[in-house]
Amino acid sequence: MTAKSKADSAFPLSADYRPLEVEMEVREFWEKNRIQKKLMEYREENNVGVLGWVEGPPTLNGTPHVGHARGRVMKDLWFRWRTMQGFYVPFWAGWDCQGLPVELEVEKLLGVRNKRELLEKVGEERFVEECKKTIMRYHKEWVEADCKLGIFIDQQKAYWTYTDDYIEREWQYLKRAWEQGLLEEGYYVVAYCPGCQTSLSSAEVGYEGSYVEVEDPSLYFKFRVADKPDEYFLVWTTMPFTIVTDLMLAVHPEAEYAKVQVGAEKWIMVKQRVEPVMQELGVKDYTIVETVLGRSLEGLKYDYPFKDLVPKQAELDKHPLVHKVVCEDFVDVNTATGVVHLSPGNGEEDFAAAKKRGVPVFAPFDDEVKFTSDAGFFQGIFARDADTMVIEELRKKGLLVKADKIRHEYPTCWRSHHKLVWLARREYFLRTDRINDKVVAAAEKVEYFFEAPKNRFLSFLKEGKPWCISRERVWGAPLPIWVCEKCGTKTFIASKKELVEKALEKPPPNFELHKPWIDRIKIKCEKCGGIMHREPFVLDTWHNSGAAPYARFTDEEFAKYVPVAFLTEGIDQTRGWANSLLLEHVILTGKAEAPYKAFLFQGLTQDAKGRKMSKSLGNIIEVNKLLEKASADVCRFYMLRKCSPIDFMNFDLNEMNRRPYQVLATLYHLNRFFMQNAEYDCFNPQKHTLEWAKSGGLLRKPDLWLLSKLQKTIGNYTANLEKCEFNTALAELEEFVVETISRLYVPMIRKELWTDDPETLNRRLAIYATLWHVLKTTLLLFNPVIPFLCEALYQKIYKRLDPTLPESVNFERWPEPDESFRNSALEENFEKLLECVSLVYSARQKAKLKRRWPLRRMVVVSSEKTLEALRSLSDILLELANVKEAEYAEKLPKNMIGDVESGKWVEASEKGIAVYLDVYRDEALLGEGLMRDVARRVQSLRKELGYVPTEILETVHVAGLDEESIRLLKPYMEQMADLVRAKRVQLHTSPSEVEAEWHEYPLDDKKVYVAIS
Ligand SMILES: [Zn+2]
Ligand SMILES: [Zn+2]
Repeated sequence: MTAKSKADSAFPLSADYRPLEVEMEVREFWEKNRIQKKLMEYREENNVGVLGWVEGPPTLNGTPHVGHARGRVMKDLWFRWRTMQGFYVPFWAGWDCQGLPVELEVEKLLGVRNKRELLEKVGEERFVEECKKTIMRYHKEWVEADCKLGIFIDQQKAYWTYTDDYIEREWQYLKRAWEQGLLEEGYYVVAYCPGCQTSLSSAEVGYEGSYVEVEDPSLYFKFRVADKPDEYFLVWTTMPFTIVTDLMLAVHPEAEYAKVQVGAEKWIMVKQRVEPVMQELGVKDYTIVETVLGRSLEGLKYDYPFKDLVPKQAELDKHPLVHKVVCEDFVDVNTATGVVHLSPGNGEEDFAAAKKRGVPVFAPFDDEVKFTSDAGFFQGIFARDADTMVIEELRKKGLLVKADKIRHEYPTCWRSHHKLVWLARREYFLRTDRINDKVVAAAEKVEYFFEAPKNRFLSFLKEGKPWCISRERVWGAPLPIWVCEKCGTKTFIASKKELVEKALEKPPPNFELHKPWIDRIKIKCEKCGGIMHREPFVLDTWHNSGAAPYARFTDEEFAKYVPVAFLTEGIDQTRGWANSLLLEHVILTGKAEAPYKAFLFQGLTQDAKGRKMSKSLGNIIEVNKLLEKASADVCRFYMLRKCSPIDFMNFDLNEMNRRPYQVLATLYHLNRFFMQNAEYDCFNPQKHTLEWAKSGGLLRKPDLWLLSKLQKTIGNYTANLEKCEFNTALAELEEFVVETISRLYVPMIRKELWTDDPETLNRRLAIYATLWHVLKTTLLLFNPVIPFLCEALYQKIYKRLDPTLPESVNFERWPEPDESFRNSALEENFEKLLECVSLVYSARQKAKLKRRWPLRRMVVVSSEKTLEALRSLSDILLELANVKEAEYAEKLPKNMIGDVESGKWVEASEKGIAVYLDVYRDEALLGEGLMRDVARRVQSLRKELGYVPTEILETVHVAGLDEESIRLLKPYMEQMADLVRAKRVQLHTSPSEVEAEWHEYPLDDKKVYVAIS
């Protein structure tokens, strides 16, 4: 026997799977050979079609964490998979650079508390510079994370939402809205954050996590009916400060209202609430003296109590409709008193009620939501701080009924967490409510893959509120509207060129489309010759990023790629990017068309305990820190495999390093096993193809079965990817690798590979041909998920054995099922076989007979059809069961019944198959079993010492066995030498008999010593 053994050091794959080393090597390989760039160029020239895509730009205001990583991994999966299918995808990066999230981050870094301080201490010019510096710093982190994760996104072609080019194209959306009369100035009630000092859109108000439980006053108070000294309206509020801006009371026209006698007073409230409210107020003695319909209260005047404190209110009181009762259907008669006070300056419905009646709106607030001089006594007080003052004033006037506290859900700012205040303000609105039918129709045509997020998105869209797009901030795309200071004419300027042409003074060279520079540009009114100033607003940052489909492409690219084929973002983007993309696209095109054909909303990622990741809990896992020690492949596989993309995922580092790691390690070792054996036999994939093996009749049932299973796996896997059921797809692939190949197929063929007999070489080559095909195909399927390991194995095994293969695994074509390999009859037979083998294992377990110990006989009892299947695979059954002979019968032979009862045979049965094992082991069986036990220890030692499986050892020494064992073992020495791949095995009674490096192993309750020399 001339050993063709190769030293381990010459072998390119380490003995164990070390993902971090693999990933570093592959990263270097990709960089050195410019694989990503080449792949893009290649697919641009050679494709079966184009699939549009646009990056949902991450905001550069923080470092990427695992939640971001999960989304990016899904994007990369989609990109690599579609690229392998032959499509060209413009997988180009993009960065969200402006807006409130960035401003707040920079404010924090600069150590200023609010906008006023910012403008006073820092100034707009420096602030803008700081914003740019900050986004560049975070950008570095994001690119690093993408690189570590193996995201093949093109960073060179990234778009940046703050560049002039981008902003100019964003303006085109607004221009279209302007032309269609959908962009208008308005005085409306908007949600306003006192902290950020800007208004928010209604989408932002509903943002994930913005509603929090807060404590507010719960105040019952009364307003006296004018000219009736004893009659009062009983009212409830949680925002006492709004009494300062109160202008009307509202009742429900159809509800029954009661006058309740309490002491000397009559309180008016809705009848159905009398009992619970009196109970809450602790009023025991009361009687309903009269009931009237809400409608009959309309027009009643009440004495507004703060006329002395707020002179402006005394003035408003002269208006014929102010401080009177109105009827409104929105009044809820199931809570509080059914009488609500209306403050049109502080509530959406209140505002609408005032507008439709021509009642003026009173909103005496400045940008910090402090009362202005119009609020008299309350001037300079922050609105929410006025709550206690208002209560105190009511008390002084004898109008306070009860002041308590209430804990309830209240919307806060999604960025700064301040309690929001509703304020009537002058803003700019996109009147998307007017095109809502088109928007909803467009959204309904999109594929969402899962019902729940689809419903959530559609029901949000159906609200169809106007979109407040103006922000009173600094770092954003400016609103390009100039207003004449003389005649009020407005003009919309849609490009930098036009702006420079019209500017009264030519702007300096460093001029850019940002505050403060753009505010310095004045233009001349074409109508009256007056000076026009820019409206000082910037645009909602969601408008900025929502402009990406048009703004990030050229006209030509836009025509080619939009509507894009697929997008995926977090579920929170239903109110964010998915919404603004849709609204802007419908405005731009005028069509009921979304800019995306499919949108996968991902569930959010939480910590291992299912808690939201947050700075305050300190449980945020940053990608770059994580991947210093953890494998990107394992992480990617874990994220995609653990749960459905729409599920909330609990990210658990311990869990990640267990099963997911083992699955990838199995894949690694299978490939390594193949490589070691194939190289040993000089397998040549160009020559020893599957066709070659097939035509030579060299393929056997296990191979044919494996090849058939492979086709099914390819088909199901791809179908699940199409449906975005990544976890189901991977469960199937995992099962194929771990169960089908590793646990079942390899044991069926392993023995055939043990020999180096030239006579059976062709059969071994046929097995390699099978493994080559199956394992390589599996790698291709895995590539979009674990690109590092796949590239490493591809280079070190497949490309090495066949240098004509493409330069990188990413250039390979996506596998398609080959029906000629499908054999469902064979698959069914194997199903029966595997059921039977697992019965053998459980019978063995019952009788405490190790699987390694050969047994003499088994009897299988089942239907004729099953028996036929088993007979056709008898050799494999005996091999896997480790039994010498099998008998097949439709009924248990009568003569065996007694032996089964007495325990001479052990039984296991399920699903119509019963297996009986003869438990008796004669000396021959005992000897062989012992040999296998000892051989197993030798194999472990081989592995420990780093021998390649194909390497042939000189001598194996075994010592420590007793006389009896040695006698039993003797007849099997040659077989054992074969099994452990050694020229000879020598038995010794004691280790001291020979000079060797002994290794001690437990063998049942004894010890055995093994040495290799
Ligand atoms: Zn805020
Ligand atoms: Zn004018």
